[in-house]
Amino acid sequence: MENLFFNPTKVIFGRGCVGEYDFSAHGKRCLIVCGGKSARLSGALDDVRNALGKFNIAFSVFDRVEQNPTVETCHAAGEAAREQKAEFIVAVGGGSPLDASKAAAYFAANVHLTPETLYNGECRAKPLPIVAIPTTAGTGSEVTQYAVLTNHRISNKQTLKSPLLFPVTALLDAEYTVTLPPHIANATAVDALSHAIEGYFSKSATTVSDALAEKAMFMIGRALPSLAEGRLDAALRERLLVGSMLGGMVISVTGTSFVHSFGYPLTYYENIPHGEANAYFLPDLLNYAMRVSENRVNRTLRLCGVKTCDEFFELIRRVCPCDKLFEREDAMKYARVGENGASTRRGIYEPTHDDCYDMLRKYIK
Ligand code: ZN
Repeated sequence: MENLFFNPTKVIFGRGCVGEYDFSAHGKRCLIVCGGKSARLSGALDDVRNALGKFNIAFSVFDRVEQNPTVETCHAAGEAAREQKAEFIVAVGGGSPLDASKAAAYFAANVHLTPETLYNGECRAKPLPIVAIPTTAGTGSEVTQYAVLTNHRISNKQTLKSPLLFPVTALLDAEYTVTLPPHIANATAVDALSHAIEGYFSKSATTVSDALAEKAMFMIGRALPSLAEGRLDAALRERLLVGSMLGGMVISVTGTSFVHSFGYPLTYYENIPHGEANAYFLPDLLNYAMRVSENRVNRTLRLCGVKTCDEFFELIRRVCPCDKLFEREDAMKYARVGENGASTRRGIYEPTHDDCYDMLRKYIK
């Protein structure tokens, strides 16, 4: 018996879809969870406010989600939802607000949970339903059961995972990605590609996740040259948003692998954006995977529109330069954290102790 696929999120796509969506199906009171900037700048927050107003839904806005949100911020958002007597949450933004909204929904329904007990405590009540509206094309969080949060107790990012955390609905409107600064658009695209590739080389890959991954690699991989040149039109933005959603569906089956495990300490300690942190190690994945599945690597390269691993490496570097170098001591610490990461051994190639350190040695000052 093999569990091929499970993903309960309804996905609605298209320009203006937020304005057309019937939010009243989820209740009469809600909390909007977002960050300080992109939800407003993209126009998504205004669209959500108008749509909620149309249905006379009472709402308040929690806009204090920071980049790489902490467990404490999510707890505060959960309390805000409780105070508002919210029946559902609308999450607007990139991966940070989307992930934070999931933990907030979890906290809101489970009064006994605290930032200290979030990861080990029992989930006694179903988290509030979430309508997720991404404003970046990268995270895929709108269709996953994961919330990746900053946990200072372990000095790293940590994933909260539950089938109850899938958003009920994802509303995808590529117009909201227009205001993204180019380096964020690039980093988030590499994150999405990374989800597809990590899933494709996962021990847990299934026929369905492979099909989704191949399509995602094609849609995102072929967009990389345009991203590198800063040329993005409406059609390309739509492809990236759908590709990113497909990448999310892939990891909802497979989880991520060592690229994410090694990227997390770069984000935690060096403040390197998540997608760019993945770009430091994504080419390594293909090089190592060559040792166990040349066919799969060649298919990946073909789908991404390149011929060799070297060409792939150059393409990724054109999109995300990865030019930050680290002190030896720090690099070795990141290698250690990466080696012990929760998803490091999920891939069909398990990096050895030496591999783990080699991956960081390249980036020593
Ligand atoms: Zn990611």
